[in-house]
Amino acid sequence: MIDVANIQPRMLMGPGPSDVNPRVLAAMARPTVGHLDPQFLEVLNDTRDMLRMVFRTENELTLAVSGTGSAGMETCVVNLVEPGDRVLVCVAGVFGTRMAEVARRTGAEVVTIERPWGQVFTAEEIAAACEQHKPLKLVGIVHAETSTGAAQPIPAVSEAVHAAGALLLVDAVTSLGGMEVSVDDWRIDACYSGTQKCLSCPPGLSPVTFSAAAEQAIAARRTPVQSWYLDMTLVRKYWGSERLYHHTAPVNMNYALHEALRMVLEEGLEARWRRHTAAHEALKTGLERMGVRHLAAPEHLLPMLNAVAAADGVDEAVVRKRLLDEYGIEIGGGLGAFKGKAWRIGLMGESATMRHVEALLSALREILT
Ligand SMILES: *Cc1c(COP(=O)(O)O)cnc(C)c1O
Repeated sequence: MIDVANIQPRMLMGPGPSDVNPRVLAAMARPTVGHLDPQFLEVLNDTRDMLRMVFRTENELTLAVSGTGSAGMETCVVNLVEPGDRVLVCVAGVFGTRMAEVARRTGAEVVTIERPWGQVFTAEEIAAACEQHKPLKLVGIVHAETSTGAAQPIPAVSEAVHAAGALLLVDAVTSLGGMEVSVDDWRIDACYSGTQKCLSCPPGLSPVTFSAAAEQAIAARRTPVQSWYLDMTLVRKYWGSERLYHHTAPVNMNYALHEALRMVLEEGLEARWRRHTAAHEALKTGLERMGVRHLAAPEHLLPMLNAVAAADGVDEAVVRKRLLDEYGIEIGGGLGAFKGKAWRIGLMGESATMRHVEALLSALREILT
């Protein structure tokens, strides 16, 4: 039996989780208190305030869902969508596919538009799809598609979606904390993220935020939210001033998120985005010297997730295993269309440093030569 006290640290450079700062781990180890303890309620209030800053929103309905990023996806979809609604999901990778599947399970009519992996949608394509399938309740899109390493142009997409009178749902699981996500300026109606990517907190919570229009859509539902656990009309009564018990908040996980958000804001959002970009540029230059190239459209590369073609003639899984066993470095393999062909190198949060980039480049150089 493994003794978890002996678990060895790694350099986490895959698609998540990312390295966690000791300050965050120390916060998690503080005494568990009751979920209605005044001290813990202060943690929740601070977290809500800090989430608004990180999401760049004044949305009242902003909180951390108990569950990983996928729970945030499900929360947004099941609260906004009910049977009889028509929903458009933009699919250009694994997480877009997943969003469409989650939407189908609500009983809504789901239509998708697709882009080849690594490419991005144009506002014209979205506008045409909105016109073809109107009326639409909601359009969903993944900002930073972790399976391909491409960033979708959310502000342009938002214009098209709002011109068609639909609500805009954005997956910011991988982007939040690593590149610009401006919920209010970009007029995003519902946005969810995860703790384990660029926020550098262990997996377990999912920040979400809903605009006033999204709140109205929830209030106007004809049927109750399909998921009792993720029903925002119930959960918000615990996060709001009523403090009504719904489910027990994961107390220590919330300590961790509180500390992680404090670290994000201490660094400053813009400084943090610059750090991610600088690490990405250094990685890209180093990989190009080795002949390893990025798979996504060059103008739309994500800084925090680098999907690259595995070097010719090597078994990509063997390289990953050696990185982990011999160098303690974790990177990811390709998913779906990129399975067996790609490496996914994450530079997320605490892992977006020159130290990480240099360690990986030198290990790869040794393994590949
Ligand atoms: C990781 C990820 C998710 C799912 O998050 P989990 O924490 O694995 O549940 C959803 N969307 C995107 C874009 C992701 O990268």
